Amino acid sequence: TKKPLSDIEIANKATMKPILEIAENAQIPLDAVEQYGRFKAKIDTSKISGEATAKVVLVTAISPTPAGEGKSTVTIGLADALHQLDKRVMVALREPSLGPVMGVKGGATGGGYAQVLPMEQINLHFNGDFHAITTANNALSALIDNHIHQGNALNIDPRRIVWKRVLDLNDRALRHVTVGLGGPMQGVPREDGFDITVASEIMAIFCLATSLKDLKQRLARIVIGYTYDRNPVTVGDLQVEGALALILKEAMNPNLVQTIEGTPALIHGGPFANIAHGCNSITATQTARKLADIVVTEAGFGSDLGAEKFLNIKAREAGFKPSAVVIVATIRALKMHGGVAKANLVEENVDALKQGIANLAQHVANVRNFGLEPVIALNRFITDSEQELKAVLQWAAANEVRIARTNVWEEGGKGGIELAEKVLEVIEQPNTFHHLYDLQETVEQKLTKIVQQVYGGAGVQLTDAAKKQLAVIEKNGWDTLPICMAKTQYSLSDQPSLVGRPTDFVVTIREILPKLGAGFLVCLTGDIMTMPGLPKQPAALNMDVAEDGSALGLF
Ligand code: ADP
Repeated sequence: TKKPLSDIEIANKATMKPILEIAENAQIPLDAVEQYGRFKAKIDTSKISGEATAKVVLVTAISPTPAGEGKSTVTIGLADALHQLDKRVMVALREPSLGPVMGVKGGATGGGYAQVLPMEQINLHFNGDFHAITTANNALSALIDNHIHQGNALNIDPRRIVWKRVLDLNDRALRHVTVGLGGPMQGVPREDGFDITVASEIMAIFCLATSLKDLKQRLARIVIGYTYDRNPVTVGDLQVEGALALILKEAMNPNLVQTIEGTPALIHGGPFANIAHGCNSITATQTARKLADIVVTEAGFGSDLGAEKFLNIKAREAGFKPSAVVIVATIRALKMHGGVAKANLVEENVDALKQGIANLAQHVANVRNFGLEPVIALNRFITDSEQELKAVLQWAAANEVRIARTNVWEEGGKGGIELAEKVLEVIEQPNTFHHLYDLQETVEQKLTKIVQQVYGGAGVQLTDAAKKQLAVIEKNGWDTLPICMAKTQYSLSDQPSLVGRPTDFVVTIREILPKLGAGFLVCLTGDIMTMPGLPKQPAALNMDVAEDGSALGLF
């Protein structure tokens, strides 16, 4: 048998349409299209009129395993299938981060014949949004240090600055650094650290802001640290929200690209789903909702992470109700949840599969807890056996969940027609979508609801440090914000090794960090890091550039 083409080989062979043609087909007014070369553009949202009315289809997944699930692939393939069925559809996706691209996970542009193009540019620097976000973040760091150096009129305690510098790479050596060394001319020495750009509060703000005015107000609310009397100091106190908004202004417009089949896609913003809220910008989703009838969008990792935050944070901020949720599952990953090691996944193992389905069952229950009806997309791999397929289909029938076998990786939109038809069935029906918690509930009540109703656990406990932070949060009246959980993606619990569907576990909240600009409280669990490290064999080792300038070994 022939070795299948790699994602980059398929992407390089595809013929792209000029971006103006894609815009025209999507009925985007041409004066709203700011071209970035021939195949990418930014959409000037001030020139897009009309109401945001399109139905929203959210794509999520079972708990990820090292076997890979193919969520972006299915998101793109589903949109292509709807496009083939003559629906006015748009994809809304996150921008990839160079951390995972150079590290272990790879890119975020789909795979096989379900990809967005130009794959190489989207995965590398794209239209510069992450540059703008990184720059705005680090400009604030420079302004804080300068303020202290120039006399510290705000009485900022350099030991209590919570604002960190960022970089869009995995770089563990920068987690803790000391700045201002070298004597009085070099500033005031203090401890600092770097987070990855996609975990930054500016990234979250960028993705949740609904207008330039809202952007500025959110930036002004950022708490950068505390004074010697323990009072919060904000960006508004430093009077630099205008400058930061100016740095971000151009980037705030969503990026238009195309799928291999010419379906329009808006790709914008990219917070991680384990340590941040995990979905593309509200601007992109709402712009797509003005332009199309159906928007297919993705939230990162399993329904316990990206989808929970999409439904409790993003949908609440943007004020829309999703119409359907697709849960991507693979037989390989389900077998891993049933205890099979990655090396043995090619062997048929119906018993392990049946055990692993418990993980899928929790994700189905999660979606239904929000009053939404799921459709399972069983992303087919060539190693799947007929017996295994039958077992999953039988389980779905017994539990009355819609399921469609999808083959978009191999066939593009054609391989997603059955999924598209089932999704269309669901979005035509009314649903009872609701957020899981009320903002007025206490922080502990909100946390308990997430753990019990989404993770399937027993409850939460706070460390002493988290309790102290919660007391400060309550004192300042910040406890009515929604929760942004930071948790491992590999388990429904806070312990990565507990695959399948663990029960009776208690989730420990290690720290609670108020992010007033983003408008949520980040609750850290386990040993989740806001600056990842590179693996022993980083993906970067396979990468190269050919003499003609084309990318090699991107994935
Ligand atoms: P996720 O969004 O869940 O992280 P992706 O859609 O990015 O996953 O896919 C991860 C990788 O798996 C990609 O390189 C993609 O080409 C590959 N992949 C996805 N679906 C299939 C499939 N059905 N068969 C083979 N490879 C696949």
